Amino acid sequence: MRDASDRDLCRVNPLAFAKKHGLDEECAIAAFLHASRLGIFELSWNVLCPGCGGVLEVGTTLKTINREEYDCGLCAAGYKPTLDEMVEVTFTVAPRVRHIAAHNPDTLSMVQYFRQIFWGSGVDLPDDETLAQQFEEITIDSIELSPGEKATLSVQLPIEFVIVFDPVTHGTGVPASFEQVSIAMRTGAPIPTTEPPTKPEDPQTERVLTGCSVLAALLGWLLADTLYRRKPQLPARMAASSRMLYGLVLNKYWIDELYGFLVVKPILVISRYILWGGFDRGVVGGGNRVLAGATQGAGSVLRRIQSGNIRSYAGWLAIGAAAILLLSFFGFGAHIHLGVR
Ligand SMILES: [Zn+2]
Repeated sequence: MRDASDRDLCRVNPLAFAKKHGLDEECAIAAFLHASRLGIFELSWNVLCPGCGGVLEVGTTLKTINREEYDCGLCAAGYKPTLDEMVEVTFTVAPRVRHIAAHNPDTLSMVQYFRQIFWGSGVDLPDDETLAQQFEEITIDSIELSPGEKATLSVQLPIEFVIVFDPVTHGTGVPASFEQVSIAMRTGAPIPTTEPPTKPEDPQTERVLTGCSVLAALLGWLLADTLYRRKPQLPARMAASSRMLYGLVLNKYWIDELYGFLVVKPILVISRYILWGGFDRGVVGGGNRVLAGATQGAGSVLRRIQSGNIRSYAGWLAIGAAAILLLSFFGFGAHIHLGVR
């Protein structure tokens, strides 16, 4: 620990350490565990990306590895963590025993950051010089930002697959056809967003709305399937638990009752007692049977209109529309024509 390089004391894998120094694996694990209990080394649980071997998250206890899915920006795929494939345990020397550069990751060079912080201990990397050379080859441009800092990078992109990548938060953007790419990052939780330049007519919104309605339909189907096929006992239980709502819906919000009370009943009363009974008999008297018949007819027609039959309502609507069309063609049309002259 006194003489080793900083790198050798950062994220030591006990199995690799045992192999390198010809030691027994069990003994090496026990030694590192003991050292971490004494506070000489710090144990960490690292969630690895099975695609690139990058460390997606670091936890001090196994309990901290609790997310359903871990996303790797470089591989653009979500992975479920499985202990034997994706989680490694490493030991880093404690800062109070010996300070190493990796204790302050932002002081590391780009190449050293990738080597010591980004990748897990199992990745077989070439020596520093070769690694730097390979970075040079695959990187178009790079920039380092402090927290809260913004930057604009102007680069010439080749007609090839390109990734905009941030190794600290694993955030990414893929500028396939966009002129502008922005990566938004939050500490701890990488949330990559790739935004194309906004256009006035955005087909995205339409797609989202279509998706929403399809989703709503699917949810409706799922609900019906659950309530009436898979758990037929549920509706009764729900009806019992919220009786008011159930009654309201069962009676179709009492719309028919309200309509009958406010519209149908008054019309009937007016036709029967005022038009027929009062006006016909009282005012006109028995002499004018024609008017009485017409009034009765009107009453019966109004009654028929309020039949509750949707098809007949549609019929009346069509007749009304036809009447308006006829009027506008032969009545108002001529009038407007004259007016313009
Ligand atoms: Zn990856």
